[in-house]
Amino acid sequence: MIKCPRCGDIESKVIDSRSIEDGIRRRRECLSCGGRYTTCERIQSQGIYIIKKDGRREEYNREKLSAGISKACEKRPIPSGTVSKLVDGIEAEIYQIGKSEIARLSAIG
Ligand SMILES: [Zn+2]
Repeated sequence: MIKCPRCGDIESKVIDSRSIEDGIRRRRECLSCGGRYTTCERIQSQGIYIIKKDGRREEYNREKLSAGISKACEKRPIPSGTVSKLVDGIEAEIYQIGKSEIARLSAIG
């Protein structure tokens, strides 16, 4: 819940929003006292869902992804650290997708 730092009211309108490194920054104006403040909303791996081929949704899980990659590579000798680097790359891509969806939503709203 976002509260106005001046009066504590939760009603506000967004007057500007822009994408930052790992989330979105919004400029808000309090509807009750008119005070302006900035909020940063971060994109987190919680709440990211992977949609499977059969249409089922599954919550993204880093452990599971690493385990899957390790298993796929088990017959091949790969240097340690490769799996976590791969997972980092995949996560970066997931966040990128999340970001563009947020950008699209705020363009509509
Ligand atoms: Zn206020």
